[in-house]
Amino acid sequence: MQVYGLIGNPVGHSVSPPMHEAAYEVLGIDARYVTFEPSPDALGMALDGASALGVSGLNVTIPFKEDVLPLVEPDPLAKRIGAVNTIDFDGEPTGHNTDAAGVTRAFEHHDVSLSGTAVVVGAGGAGRAASFALADEGVDVRIANRTVSRAERLAEDVPNTTAHGLEGLDALLADADLLVNATSVGMESDETPVPREALHADLAVLDAVYKPLETRLLRDADDVGATTIDGAWMLLYQGIEAFELWTGQDAPIDVMNNALRASL
Ligand code: NAP
Repeated sequence: MQVYGLIGNPVGHSVSPPMHEAAYEVLGIDARYVTFEPSPDALGMALDGASALGVSGLNVTIPFKEDVLPLVEPDPLAKRIGAVNTIDFDGEPTGHNTDAAGVTRAFEHHDVSLSGTAVVVGAGGAGRAASFALADEGVDVRIANRTVSRAERLAEDVPNTTAHGLEGLDALLADADLLVNATSVGMESDETPVPREALHADLAVLDAVYKPLETRLLRDADDVGATTIDGAWMLLYQGIEAFELWTGQDAPIDVMNNALRASL
């Protein structure tokens, strides 16, 4: 039996186990997907142990995505983003970032063209992944963050991007085609980082927040006639990318999507 899993702290309410195990079951793969919650100072030992025990692959979540980087051989994208969310233990452990593909594949699933201009709100881990992913597709990216200096640092790393605060979102969005909320706003309370007046019908709006699925941002976007994409799509496609990397098989997308949504 192969063992895959998620390493983070906390990971108790993760929906990744049912999503991945539904895929193993339908494809007849003899594997389990389990969660591991080491203390932050034991991360190196935990990865060595996983490798020694023959764990096949791990997803990585908060607070370890950046700390894992020097402990594995990161691929070029993970290195540029500065964060790893997937480790492959086939040979020397390699680090990958599938959050980036989670963003682009979520848009593509909804037949949204990856072109024109995007506004990425947020410059933390999800904002970095979204900005690199969209810029690599040739999209002009405007990064807006509460802490402007963090947006500026990110814009220095990603070509064809500009950095902004949250005040001028109306102007930034007026001629934009894509919007990504990569902040945690909307998770704890019914708030939105983007004023409703700044939204319009020509936007495709992806909210990285997936608890709740229907955020205030997506309700507002739906009201103005924009295309809306909830955070479970990004979560689904980062998981699909990891599954395909680990197993070399095409992921059963509908099966994983149904299992994920049933667990949220
Ligand atoms: P992070 O690295 O901690 O970054 C948090 C971001 O949110 C920063 O840009 C921060 O701005 C901003 N922020 C926090 N509170 C704010 C507020 N009250 N007003 C305005 N901005 C605020 O977190 P992360 O890993 O990027 O995650 C961000 C969100 O994406 C979370 O909800 C997470 O669950 C979600 N996510 C979803 C997926 C998925 O697959 N769907 C994957 C990864 C993350 P400052 O820099 O100013 O602090």
